[in-house]
Amino acid sequence: QTKASGRHGHQHFNAAAQAIVQRKLAMEADLRLAIAKNHLQVYYQPQVCLSTGKIIGVEALARWIDPVKGMISPELFIPVAEESGLIIELGNFVLRTACRDARILQERVGHPMIMAVNLSARQFRQETLVDTVSSIIAEARMDPAMLELEITEGVMMENDEKTRSRMQGLRDLGISLAVDDFGTGYSSLSYLTQFPITTLKIDRSFVDKINEGERDAAVVQAIIAMAYSLKTKVIAEGVETVEQLEFLQEHTCSAAQGFMFSKPMSMAELGQAFDQIQKSSTDSVMTSLHKVI
Ligand code: C2E
Ligand code: MG
Ligand code: MG
Ligand code: MG
Repeated sequence: QTKASGRHGHQHFNAAAQAIVQRKLAMEADLRLAIAKNHLQVYYQPQVCLSTGKIIGVEALARWIDPVKGMISPELFIPVAEESGLIIELGNFVLRTACRDARILQERVGHPMIMAVNLSARQFRQETLVDTVSSIIAEARMDPAMLELEITEGVMMENDEKTRSRMQGLRDLGISLAVDDFGTGYSSLSYLTQFPITTLKIDRSFVDKINEGERDAAVVQAIIAMAYSLKTKVIAEGVETVEQLEFLQEHTCSAAQGFMFSKPMSMAELGQAFDQIQKSSTDSVMTSLHKVI
C-alpha cells in the first residue's frame, strides 16, 4: 500500500461523507420549504381495543406530500428535522392539527377518543414545553383527557428530577404519557417506577416475530404482564396478521394498532371510515374496518 493509494482512499471517503452531508442539507432546505408551503399533513392510524373491537383512538403521524416527489417517508425526514431543529416547528404543527382534529372527531363520533401524538426528545427538552402544550389544548378547545403524548425511552435516559417534573407537568394538564417503541431503547427499566407513565407501546419488532420464536412471544407476554402490574395500558404496534392478533388477545393485551386494521389515513378518509362503521350493523372494528378500508 503506497502513500498515494492511501490518500486516494481517504479522498474517496471524504467524497462519500460530503455527499451524505449535502443530501441532508438539501433535504433540510426542502423540508423548510415544505413547512412554509403547507406540504405537511397529519394522517391518523386507528388504535383498536382488543376486547371490544372498537376504535379507542388514533395516532397522529406526520406526512410530507411533495407535489412532484409524492409521499416522503417520516423515516427519512424526521431524523433530518430532529438534527436541524425543525422538529420543534414540525412537532407543534402536528400537535396543533391533531388537537383540532381530535375535537372534530369527538363531535363526529359522539364520544371522546385518544389522540396520540409523537413528541421528539428535542421537543421534550424545551423549557416551554408544558406551556406550549397547555396553550395548544386551550386553543383547540379539546378535552385534555383525549391527548396522549408518545415519548421514546431516550427521553428517560437522564433519570433526573427535571425530566420527572416535566412529565408530571404534562400529566397535571390532564394528558397521558406513552412510551413509544417500548423495549428498543437503552434505558434502564427503573424509569417505569420514577416517571408518571400511563401507556406502554410494544415495539413492532417484537410483534413482528410473535409467531416465529418462543422467545419473542415470551418478551411480548412479559411486557403485557409488566404493564398490568404497573397499572398502565399496553398497546401493540404493527399488528399485521390474524395470528398476531390472536396471540395478543389470548394474552390480554389491551389494544393494538397495525396494517391489519388500517394504515394511517387522512382526516377525510378517517371520517368516512367512522361513518361506515356507524352505518354497518356490526360494531366490531376488527371486522368492519376490513370491509371499509
Ligand atoms: P412510530 O411513532 O412508532 O409510529 C408507528 C409507525 O409504524 C408509523 O410509521 C406507522 O405507519 C407504522 N406502522 C403502523 N402499523 C404498521 C404495520 O402493521 N406494519 C408496518 N410495517 N408499519 C406499521 P411512519 O408513519 O412512517 O412513522 C415512522 C416514525 O416517524 C414514527 O414511528 C415516529 O417515530 C416518527 N414520526 C412520525 N410522525 C411524527 C411526528 O409528528 N413527530 C415525531 N417526533 N415523530 C414522528
Ligand atoms: Mg408513535
Ligand atoms: Mg412506535
Ligand atoms: Mg418508531
